[in-house]
Amino acid sequence: MFNKILIANRGEIALRVVRAAREMGIATVAVHSTADSDAMHVRMADESVCIGPPSGTQSYLSVPAIISACEITGAEAIHPGYGFLSENAGFVQVVEDHDLTFIGPTAEHIRIMGDKITAKDTMKKLGVPCVPGSDGGVDTLEEAKRIGEEFGYPVIIKATAGGGGRGMKVAQNAQEMEKAFHTARAEGKSNFGNDEVYIEKYLTTPRHIEIQVFGDGKGRAVHLGERDCSLQRRHQKVFEEAPGPAISAEERATIGKVCADAVARINYTGAGTIEFLYENGEFYFIEMNTRLQVEHPVTEAIFGVDLVREQIRVASGMEMSFQQEDLTINGHSIEVRINAEKLPNFSPCPGRITQYHAPGGLGVRMDSALYDGYSIPPYYDSLIGKLIVHGRDRPEALARLKRALGELIVDGVDTTVPLFHALLEEEDVLSGGYNIHWLEHWLETNLGGS
Ligand code: ADP
Repeated sequence: MFNKILIANRGEIALRVVRAAREMGIATVAVHSTADSDAMHVRMADESVCIGPPSGTQSYLSVPAIISACEITGAEAIHPGYGFLSENAGFVQVVEDHDLTFIGPTAEHIRIMGDKITAKDTMKKLGVPCVPGSDGGVDTLEEAKRIGEEFGYPVIIKATAGGGGRGMKVAQNAQEMEKAFHTARAEGKSNFGNDEVYIEKYLTTPRHIEIQVFGDGKGRAVHLGERDCSLQRRHQKVFEEAPGPAISAEERATIGKVCADAVARINYTGAGTIEFLYENGEFYFIEMNTRLQVEHPVTEAIFGVDLVREQIRVASGMEMSFQQEDLTINGHSIEVRINAEKLPNFSPCPGRITQYHAPGGLGVRMDSALYDGYSIPPYYDSLIGKLIVHGRDRPEALARLKRALGELIVDGVDTTVPLFHALLEEEDVLSGGYNIHWLEHWLETNLGGS
């Protein structure tokens, strides 16, 4: 086992890793930009190293600075969290070249899954069901139009390098194809340096269902059921739950096995998420994330496992601490993402927290790096906390979420908390009767924002 690990991230996820490491008796090194000198992850870690100015490119994304921080402190392994360098195959290569351990999958697996066309092709070959669409990349508008006719509109044009909801455009008909095709390509080029796109049938009423998988890198893998992340704004998740209200035990077992077998066959290491759209009882693969997800705590809650601990164990060469038959679901869990954003337009709202009080009590977990007097810097993501609740069943989890949201105090900045208070009054949310478009419609009708 490692003696010391470095966490190449900030905010709640850096704290999350510090907590797992401390329980395992492993020392932690935090890295931070000059804007984060007073951040909670810096205060909670055993040691810290300043790695650059506020801009993410010059600090949390600076590979030389992070590797130097390892050398200086003697950290043996790096946990990347999510975002930043977590899915950067080049970084993993550099880490390995310096005889350090990356707590995550291999550079090759990250590369395969990071290119959506290659990922889809790989998954198809491994027997995972995919969204119908083009066979690989689409280079010309003529070809795009032909595919539109073949599969029938609407279709979605997606940048192969896309992520975070960027580089995707829907064409409702042949007239819209030209603009959608060129915009998706341009977004792919400007955001990810790659203008290759592919086309999929656009599903009109699917749910977003993702399967948590975990592999030991030696051909053994398990699944930890699904998360339903259908409540999304601009393709970004805001409310996640496990198990999925629309998924039966039989469906879970079947798709879970398909996913576990697929990652076992490629000797996948550590945590991964296979994302699907689910419509009329069918699953359609859209992408795989080769890292810990923001919403991993709902899975931890219902299975009673620590996924970060497990990541560290496997990265150090130890066996996984569970097998498929050990994993049984207990109750229901919901997470809401609390962002420092001003409604109705969700504009970022950095600033000083004048008062912070986290909710508590049975079945309540608040993952946040906030504290009284903390100033949220304007340079990074606006996620400031995740409130996770766990109950014996979905109604109990919903009641607990409402109660916990009522206890939470975040003064000084606007947050997305009022959105969740409002959503918990909605019949469709209470019954679980929503799909990936539900929240956008609701926002238009109720907030009039964009
Ligand atoms: P990203 O990598 O940017 O997150 P994904 O491929 O995971 O992109 O898709 C994100 C979201 O976009 C999905 O959860 C879903 O809401 C929507 N989406 C993606 N593909 C389709 C599709 N074929 N039909 C309908 N919606 C889609």
